[in-house]
Amino acid sequence: MVSIDKVGYGEYLLLAEAPMFKRRYTANGDIMLGCTIGCDFCIYRMIDTTIPYFGTGELKRLATPEEFAESVSNSRLISERSLVIMGARGDASMYPNDIPKMLNTAEKLGLTTKFLALRRAILDKTVKHQLADYPQLYYGTTITPKAIETGSPVPDYLQLKGLQNVTDFLNKVSIEVGPVTPNNIDAVKGILKELKDMGWEKAMYRGVTVGSWGVERKEAVEKMIKLGFITPEQAKQALESPEYFYGVKNNLDSLMEKAIQNMFEEVGLKAYRYAGQFYADNWDLPVPLTRRNKIRSDILEYAKKVQYPNKDLEQQLDYLGYYDHDVKWSNEHGIRVAYVNTKIPITEDVAMYLGEVTGVAIIATNYLHSPNKEVLKHYLKYSFLGIPERAKKNIMRKLN
Ligand code: SF4
Repeated sequence: MVSIDKVGYGEYLLLAEAPMFKRRYTANGDIMLGCTIGCDFCIYRMIDTTIPYFGTGELKRLATPEEFAESVSNSRLISERSLVIMGARGDASMYPNDIPKMLNTAEKLGLTTKFLALRRAILDKTVKHQLADYPQLYYGTTITPKAIETGSPVPDYLQLKGLQNVTDFLNKVSIEVGPVTPNNIDAVKGILKELKDMGWEKAMYRGVTVGSWGVERKEAVEKMIKLGFITPEQAKQALESPEYFYGVKNNLDSLMEKAIQNMFEEVGLKAYRYAGQFYADNWDLPVPLTRRNKIRSDILEYAKKVQYPNKDLEQQLDYLGYYDHDVKWSNEHGIRVAYVNTKIPITEDVAMYLGEVTGVAIIATNYLHSPNKEVLKHYLKYSFLGIPERAKKNIMRKLN
């Protein structure tokens, strides 16, 4: 178990209890926690509170479809332009019938947010029908090269077959190819070629991720080495990282990355390194201009295309209960930057929301990457993530 005093404990609690648990350039949520597919390399098999629901056949309901829509509606960290993920801690194929119910409730509540259902196996026809019926719904899938050898039971050829069903919706489906490891990189080009032949024009590629919360970091890293999944350098980085959740995230060494980019070029597909670049470029998502309290230079080119809501920063700080704020402005890299000082720390969740609605790069002088127990109380008081009462009570019990 993780100690209550650890920085990030708030996020650790949300991860196990709340439908919406994290806000980055998307708001991440799940109707059910868990996934019966159970890929060996899944990060949620490296976190003590999620381990019981991955690859075991057991799932935990976090919300009814109606409650999920209400959570989105009640969350102050989700705007009318946000993209909300379903299947962030699992896979949206665990609850295909809940998705239309959720979307119908969202419509009744007048929500204009977009939803992105993440599914590894995209084969069945429900995906096509839902894409046709709901303009606000997008789908996303990850294809792992040499899936079986790499540790996913969903074969890559079946995923490609599934994508054939949805070629009428090229602009409503995002495809990630990954995790790419030294052992499966030779299969990447074949996948890209098939995608191109089907009519797809772009895709993302991903590196490897290793995490550990409440489990021995060393054991998680050793398991990934055994799977042939990480290089010795990535293993070292994972072991030395001060981060609890991610030791390494979406990491690719530079030679592998260059090789993948060449493959995209040779095949004639547009490559995206990060999902934020893809969402801004294709789905007009107002992506925040910072990450980890620094200007995110990889996003600036893509962000130029996006129309931001340009809401007033100081009013938004009041809306989130940061009444004591002080803001200093500057211009850097051709964008507006706000240095925001507050008594209660600004977390990555909050900076991402503010960045989305203001179009300004937010640098917090009192910054915490993820909420500790005190900041989590502020989240609950101001309904940052629209947590339903039952989950709220469970979280409060663990906080007091
Ligand atoms: S399909 Fe996704 S969520 Fe499910 S086990 Fe595999 S990586 Fe994890």
